[in-house]
Amino acid sequence: FRRREASMVAMASLGMLFLTILLLLNVDSYPLLLQAILWLSDALLVATMIYYYQTKNIRVAGWIYILITMGLNALLIYSGGKQDTALYWVLFYPLAAFAILGSRLGLALTLLLFCSALVMLYTPGLILAEYNEVEKSRFLMSYLCISTLAFINEFFRSREYHETRRVTLSYKKDANTDPLTGIPNRRFLDSNYLKEHVRDVDKHNMVVIMADIDRFKAVNDNYGHDIGDEALIHTVNLFSQQIRRSDLLCRYGGEEFLICLPDTDLQQGTQIAEKLRKLLEQTPFISSKQDALNLTCSFGVAQLDAAGFESAVALADKKLYEAKNQGRNRVVA
Ligand code: GH3
Ligand code: MG
Ligand code: MG
Repeated sequence: FRRREASMVAMASLGMLFLTILLLLNVDSYPLLLQAILWLSDALLVATMIYYYQTKNIRVAGWIYILITMGLNALLIYSGGKQDTALYWVLFYPLAAFAILGSRLGLALTLLLFCSALVMLYTPGLILAEYNEVEKSRFLMSYLCISTLAFINEFFRSREYHETRRVTLSYKKDANTDPLTGIPNRRFLDSNYLKEHVRDVDKHNMVVIMADIDRFKAVNDNYGHDIGDEALIHTVNLFSQQIRRSDLLCRYGGEEFLICLPDTDLQQGTQIAEKLRKLLEQTPFISSKQDALNLTCSFGVAQLDAAGFESAVALADKKLYEAKNQGRNRVVA
């Protein structure tokens, strides 16, 4: 929204500046009606800016600004401004409308003002101002040219913006996803999960489980790397079924997984690890070559404390090491 904000603040500031200067310089020459309209617009612009700085709501402030300028422009066309020079002011309207409201709403308001101008300029006796015939048609034509260009500009800018955003998001997702298993990788944990998904309150009641498949090297050695890959997918599928949506299962290393469980205490975390352990042990993996393999996994469980996430992971890793030393296929907390 940066561009919209800048457009609105710049336009409103220039509007307030010019209105105030012109009003002060022309106290004697402006007709009373014109002075009243201009002071009112000036005051409304000030109010809009105050509203904007207090709420930072660019959507509402932008709408108010665009409607004020629409009204002001229509009244200027009607009254003619000073010596019937009002049409100059109207020409900038399409640019402001597209920049602040985007291509669709901008188009609607630009056309609305165009139609009002057309009716006012060509209905005999409808308005106070007396514009020269040539000036009227030239004004309408240049208004259309500016509107067309402003529309094209805004339309493609916004399309490119959305395309870039989509591509960036998908790159980000790819960079954070393990291609083999489709679960988040370690980079996701560091760059995204901890920063954006784990609130401080969660950290006081969170458990991490470090899981490592037992004797996995033997699977590769005996059945080949491809079957090893399938075994990893099998394990991830089983684990994924057992954890909640709010938990995170991520591939921490080769055959090592880290599971983060928010709102969980050490005892519950240990039970969950035990559930995963049993499930893997009891669910033989049938490979694409029809081999049936029994996989097991060891688990280290640790609770997050004041020392932070890193140290909880280090502790879980230490517990995992103990589980391996005690004979594998077990949970140590
Ligand atoms: P331990 O019970 O002590 O954990 O024994 P292990 O054999 O599982 O441990 P080790 O660390 O010696 O071996 C891990 C193996 O995992 C070695 C590596 O080739 C394999 N591995 C790591 N990533 C992948 C992968 O993406 N696909 C396959 N197929 N194997 C992998
Ligand atoms: Mg292993
Ligand atoms: Mg390992």
